[in-house]
Amino acid sequence: MIRLEEIVDEILSYNSDADVDYVRKAYIFSAKVHLGQKRQSGEPYLSHPIEVAMILAHMRMDVVTIAAGLLHDTLEDTPTTPEELNEFFGPDLTYLVQALTKISKIQFKTKEAQQAENFRKMIIAMGRDIRVIVIKLADRLHNMRTLEHLRPAKQEAISQETQDIYAPLANRLGIGWMKSELEDLCFKYLKPDKYREIEQQVAKRREELEEYIRDLKKIVERSLKEQGYTADVKGRPKHFYSIYLKMDRQKVTFDEVYDLLALRIILPDNDKTACYGVLGLIHSLWPPVAGRFKDYISVPKSNLYQSLHTTVLGPKGERVEFQIRTEEMDKVAEEGIAAHWKYKEKSSIGEKDDQRFAWLRQLMESQQDIKDDREFLDTLRLDLFSDVVYVFTPRGDVREFPRGSTPIDFAYSIHSDIGDQCVGARVNGKIVPLRQELETGDVVEIQTQTGHNPSRDWLKHVKTAKAKTRIKHWLKIEEHRQSVELGQELLEKELRRHNLPTSKLTKPEELGRILPEFNCPSDEQLFAEIGSGKVSSLAVVRALAPETVKAEEKSEKSFFSKLIKKTAKTPEKGVKISGIDNVMIHYSKCCSPIPGDEIIGFITRGRGITIHAADCPNVTGVAFDRERMVKVDWEQAEQAKIKAYTARITVFTVDKPGILAKITSAITESEANINQAQVSALEGKKAVCNFSVEIDNREHLGRLMKRIDQLDGVLEVKRVMS
Ligand code: MN
Repeated sequence: MIRLEEIVDEILSYNSDADVDYVRKAYIFSAKVHLGQKRQSGEPYLSHPIEVAMILAHMRMDVVTIAAGLLHDTLEDTPTTPEELNEFFGPDLTYLVQALTKISKIQFKTKEAQQAENFRKMIIAMGRDIRVIVIKLADRLHNMRTLEHLRPAKQEAISQETQDIYAPLANRLGIGWMKSELEDLCFKYLKPDKYREIEQQVAKRREELEEYIRDLKKIVERSLKEQGYTADVKGRPKHFYSIYLKMDRQKVTFDEVYDLLALRIILPDNDKTACYGVLGLIHSLWPPVAGRFKDYISVPKSNLYQSLHTTVLGPKGERVEFQIRTEEMDKVAEEGIAAHWKYKEKSSIGEKDDQRFAWLRQLMESQQDIKDDREFLDTLRLDLFSDVVYVFTPRGDVREFPRGSTPIDFAYSIHSDIGDQCVGARVNGKIVPLRQELETGDVVEIQTQTGHNPSRDWLKHVKTAKAKTRIKHWLKIEEHRQSVELGQELLEKELRRHNLPTSKLTKPEELGRILPEFNCPSDEQLFAEIGSGKVSSLAVVRALAPETVKAEEKSEKSFFSKLIKKTAKTPEKGVKISGIDNVMIHYSKCCSPIPGDEIIGFITRGRGITIHAADCPNVTGVAFDRERMVKVDWEQAEQAKIKAYTARITVFTVDKPGILAKITSAITESEANINQAQVSALEGKKAVCNFSVEIDNREHLGRLMKRIDQLDGVLEVKRVMS
């Protein structure tokens, strides 16, 4: 059993002014009230609180926390009352022990889906003081270290709870060593076979691994020295659970896990630039593995972890991971929140730390205002499942966003106008694309330009409801404006086609006369309806000048109406019409144009625009009115992704068995779908096969036709365009 004086020495080693008598008093109190109690192992119960206190001392906590570690089970397991604790040790310690007692009574649910609720209970019990969690983690760590003395069922239940709740919590607070140790202990009890397997394998290769690490260290240390760096190099095999995860995720055996080794290079002083210099040095020694470099220095993790990670192919061709960081970063990585909570006289934590942990304080404070259980769960889920990021304004105010939010969300959170007019952003002083996701700790600055407007594209890059609503609102207005413009244009064209006076008939008094007929409250609305294809321009002209239209229609054989009947009815995307979006589009069935074909649009009567191939005989024929043609282009960016296009091909072959099977498999191998196939025999031992296929674009069709053409027995392949 650890002696009291060992704890005292440990505390004095990092704080010579510590009130160690306070800790001595707590020890004596605890020894007295736990007297006679035993643990499952047969040891005196006191050994447990003492070990917990020692863990806390190793974490360099303050004396109140360490004393609370010594007394953490007194309220629950002994007749001690809160009043007594308060009298002897003061309100802070009493609060901590009471909160810990509350936590010990929580029934946690182990299902992952219940995690939010678990965290919630824990945080409510923890209340305002985060030290409660630190003590609870130390308590759990010692219990896990001594789990072997319990019954197997109990071992499993406690391990599961630890894996579900405490290991993630240690990670969340950035206490890296504790997270790893808890994970390995859980692994040992939850998957004993797998654990033993890895343990044995690592043992078998231990000597070899250690020698390898020594060699690597020597090389790295020598190069660092040559380049004038002073740095500490540490090597270690990875922890078992992370090896296991690797094997499990990548479905590989132990022998196939290459990066069993990680070397850490720790630079003195807080010199970030030197980290990048050392990174370059490592890459000059051994080739880096592509895709394995991570820069957590410029983009820290949400638990404030900072480091450079890279994996290289070492001297024996094995993968070795390097972590490069400064001393301070290493401290944060290993101790996390505890690094910021270590003993600091009577003064409170530094202002910078205070701001960094604003999220945690906010969380603790906010839980008091939320009455509704459901609402709390939702908030909490956001908060604890790292679904949320906290970023700063240039003035240092903290703002909260759902994970995945971008500078656009940030801009809208300041003001709608700033959002609408935002053209660029700086994150931590660097210009970044507007779609870049924000990370906790980012300082964000927005650049605006008067008159700039949101784009539809932004919708893909925003997460907050406010930004989405504003952008959609603006797009609606914009679409309406475009419809009005197009509608007016279409109406004027239609009037000209009938040789009617355009300016006279589009005057408000003329239009006002016919508005009720179309159920429209205003001219603008009528134009919008024409522009969006809901009302045909011809119908409006007919209403404006019924006599003229009637006379014309008698003489005109309705060629168009026949044609229109043939066109598809569903609106589709994929083409761009002289810069105008959102017009109803149909692809003509006569020539079935596909991306890559030259195309032309034809304004139909009341049915939007039909797209034809530019050389479609129906278009080149005299019957079409040139006035109603519009220039259209395939939308570059998204072509082919929107849908498959239909094309028809005819294949002439020799008539022999199996030829159809060959052609169809050539088509499917080209990754095209066959909608329809039809084969007929011709004279002279020949056959003709007609296919309707779904393809991405003209290039795809070209590849497919070439493939068919090369088949044995195929005489000719043609695309059918009419
Ligand atoms: Mn305990």
